[in-house]
Amino acid sequence: MSGLNAPQKLAVEYVDGPLLVLAGAGSGKTKVITEKIAHLIATGRHEAKHVAAITFTNKAAREMRERVARRVKGDKAEGLTISTFHSLGLKFLQIEHERAQLRRGFSIFDSDDQLAIVKDLAPAGLKNDALYALHNLISAAKNNGLSPEQAAEAARSLREREAAGLYARYQARLQAFNAVDFDDLIRLPLLLLDADAELAAGWRERIRYLLVDECQDTNGAQYRLLKHLAGTRGAMTCVGDDDQSIYAWRGANPENLDQLAQDYPRIKVVMLEQNYRCSGRILRSANALIAKNAHAHPKQLWSQHGDGEPVRVWACKNNEHEAERVAAEIHYLAQAKEILWGEFAVLFRGNHQSRPLEKALQLLRIPYHLTGGTAFLDRGEVKDALSWLRVLANPDDDAAFLRAIASPKREVGATTLEKLAGLAQQAQLSLSKAAENISLLKQLTPRAANGLNEFTGIIHRLRDASERLTPAELTRKLVEQSGLLAMIRAQCKDEASYLRRKENLDELALWFENARGGGAGELAAQLALLTNADRGEPGNQVRLMSLHAAKGLEFAAVFVIGCDDGNLPHSASIEEGRLEEERRLMYVGITRAKAHLYLSHNAETKRWGSVEHLLPSRFLDELPAGDLLRDGSDPERESAEKKIRGRASIKEIASLFDP
Ligand code: ATP
Ligand code: MG
Repeated sequence: MSGLNAPQKLAVEYVDGPLLVLAGAGSGKTKVITEKIAHLIATGRHEAKHVAAITFTNKAAREMRERVARRVKGDKAEGLTISTFHSLGLKFLQIEHERAQLRRGFSIFDSDDQLAIVKDLAPAGLKNDALYALHNLISAAKNNGLSPEQAAEAARSLREREAAGLYARYQARLQAFNAVDFDDLIRLPLLLLDADAELAAGWRERIRYLLVDECQDTNGAQYRLLKHLAGTRGAMTCVGDDDQSIYAWRGANPENLDQLAQDYPRIKVVMLEQNYRCSGRILRSANALIAKNAHAHPKQLWSQHGDGEPVRVWACKNNEHEAERVAAEIHYLAQAKEILWGEFAVLFRGNHQSRPLEKALQLLRIPYHLTGGTAFLDRGEVKDALSWLRVLANPDDDAAFLRAIASPKREVGATTLEKLAGLAQQAQLSLSKAAENISLLKQLTPRAANGLNEFTGIIHRLRDASERLTPAELTRKLVEQSGLLAMIRAQCKDEASYLRRKENLDELALWFENARGGGAGELAAQLALLTNADRGEPGNQVRLMSLHAAKGLEFAAVFVIGCDDGNLPHSASIEEGRLEEERRLMYVGITRAKAHLYLSHNAETKRWGSVEHLLPSRFLDELPAGDLLRDGSDPERESAEKKIRGRASIKEIASLFDP
């Protein structure tokens, strides 16, 4: 376990009770978790199958698993659990499905499916915004561990009462579909564990040591789950940084860090104060900024690295100008400092900010990867294929049935489906089961009945085949036999777009091939949990992503764009007095940078077709002036740098002619 400083080493080796590592950015918290997993297994303290680590994204889980695999030899790491809270909840429900009154192959409803239920149950004529708001309230009640009755009691406004009223019916609908939503992945395990001490003891026997990264962003329900798993013995290590809590809007509660100390009075708290990531000026800027937030336990990070480059603050005309400067600077730094494309990140508050950047990068032929762009899992053909898999695994999944039966279109129109839904409801059957019921089919027109018969025929053949096929083979087969592939071919005007869409389906099959364990239904459920940030292994490409998605990562050079008042901090946060969370977001952005940091703001922006003047982010004034190099503050240096950059690009152009 070489290469750890004294408090890190202590945190890794301490196993006598609960441990909290409370420390700032880049101080090695994640490293402590990885090293500790390896330590627990390598020393034989716990078998891998009894160790579970919780990370914030599936991608972080994958990376951590790879790192541990390098540290622990042979098959000793076999059975180790590294996952998000949601994936762990899914695993729990797959094992305990009977207790949760779910049948094997239950579906996970994505946000579209969830909203469709709300729309169906809510009073007619509500606009999407109102439906979202209702769904958010239901979700919030679920995350707070409230039952429908408790939510009704706690309701303060008319809207909340309305949502509480919907909640029970929403839940009944999920139950009828043999489905859960994302919130249930935490809520249901919690309900079961709350109700059954023996079950909880059984799970503590299974998970004998628990480690949690990014603990500041757990919500109330996740925190309670954590407590169940750790139990009174408190066999756990939590690491976190209250200054990096940026998910309040999803119910995250940084006070959980303090709560830990109250719930586990024996807890050992380790502080890490050395930052290994950032150069001196970057770290000083981060420290100065975050010092403006109120702190119960102020911390001061230090770094052994030298001052390094000044933090550059750019005054740009507008976001096109900003994007051009970013692209040109990346181009220059890549050559002059030999920084790989993959070591650059451009971070922003809102996803719309990536558009001008993409254009500017393309112009200079700089390869880039946009996290959370049009996501693979949101693509129509992928959703279609997944809905077929869901119907195969779960005949009660009405949402999937409705999507599958319409892709490709067959002789089953909206009227038929409405009629079928009515009959299904009377007979208390799911749509899929109703479509197989001969006496019900007789009540439809022969043409409609034929259309349904054809569909159920394919489903039956695929279901039979699924027993002999791997999930990947099944996916390939269904893509052919469902008619999906033919549908795509008919829809695409040219070969290239057909191939692109077909590739997405190939990739889906490939994902199943690489995934470990489980039938197609279980794998489809796991897939539903991947978020856009999890997908795709970017190669050597400049990374474009939101500040939220950048948490935990590090890059040689970081550009935080759009440091405009109203964007960062966001105007809604300014109005609602939520400046501290915005400051933490900026802190997260700044502390991603190892050596080069650029913060840019714009003089104006176009909004709804008219030009709006902007002011620089108030956070820029909170940074130590001595560590910044602002546009226009040092004309001599600027003109010298301009010359160097000019020469570099001329040299590059010349090299094109001089092989
Ligand atoms: P964040 O708060 O951003 O999640 P963190 O506290 O989790 O950061 P890590 O990502 O674990 O920090 O570590 C930051 C960087 O410092 C990594 O590159 C890591 O390898 C390096 N590092 C951590 N500890 C040491 C050490 N003792 N010696 C050398 N490098 C270290
Ligand atoms: Mg970390």
